[in-house]
Amino acid sequence: MKESFQQFITKNKTRTLILSGLVLLSLVYGLGQTIYQNLSLKKQVKTSEQTLQKVEQELADFKTDKERLLSALNKVQVQNNSVTQELNEMVGIVEIFQRIAQTDPQLLQKYSKIYFLNENYKPSALTVIDTKYLVTKDKPLEIHDRIWPFLANLLREAEEAQVPLRIISAYRSFDKQTTLKTTYRVTYGAGTANKFSADQGYSEHQLGTTVDFSTPTLGTNFDRFAKSEAYTWLLANAYRHGFILSYPKNNAYYVYEPWHWRFVGLDLAKQLHDEQKNFYDLDQRAINVYLATFFNGTTSGPILTN
Ligand SMILES: [Zn+2]
Repeated sequence: MKESFQQFITKNKTRTLILSGLVLLSLVYGLGQTIYQNLSLKKQVKTSEQTLQKVEQELADFKTDKERLLSALNKVQVQNNSVTQELNEMVGIVEIFQRIAQTDPQLLQKYSKIYFLNENYKPSALTVIDTKYLVTKDKPLEIHDRIWPFLANLLREAEEAQVPLRIISAYRSFDKQTTLKTTYRVTYGAGTANKFSADQGYSEHQLGTTVDFSTPTLGTNFDRFAKSEAYTWLLANAYRHGFILSYPKNNAYYVYEPWHWRFVGLDLAKQLHDEQKNFYDLDQRAINVYLATFFNGTTSGPILTN
């Protein structure tokens, strides 16, 4: 026999109630759980946000610190660079002074009737000049060995320009000079001899840095050298090889000697040429600075060697 639905409900009322209660309870629990989870999630999000803010702040602080450090480092580097630069400049100056001190000061000395070389002075080393450049080939001539490469280049360059140059005199010892002076005196008389072969000129020859030029045509008649093509060529080109005319025309201190050329180094010769100045017009202290670069150019640059 079948029970009606009403009867079933009535019969199972208690069970239904319990069942409904259980369903409700589980719903409430589920809802609570969800709310709790939501709340906890929000809390976590908030904590994370706070942590993120903190990290961002720390990062910003770090960036500021880094910039400060970099700026400080930069300052230190700038200071270091300027100290290094100053130090380098000082080292440079010391080197210049050392080179000046190590170079024979006589090489750039101005000579006069009251200041001349000691009779015992001799160049540190001498080289025999290639005889093909001599006026008198059987009378060997010598020159300061470190100046020979400069002179050789000058002679070769003149030759290439078809301006043949010859040398009539170079290094002269004190004794040789004395003999020569006596000869001049005998030939020209004491007054004239003192003028063109006296104390100034002899010192430059005794240094081993000075030569008297002539040409194959003029030979020993070098007193006419001023009119030669070779002289014009020297006026335009000798300075590039470090040679200058010690006693130019109309100079205030000595007779004109167009044949007499002294080596003063590439730097000073160029300076004198560019500024149209005479060696003997310069102050001795200003000249001495060039001792630092006196022999420069012998091993590098345009200088050729034999
Ligand atoms: Zn001379």
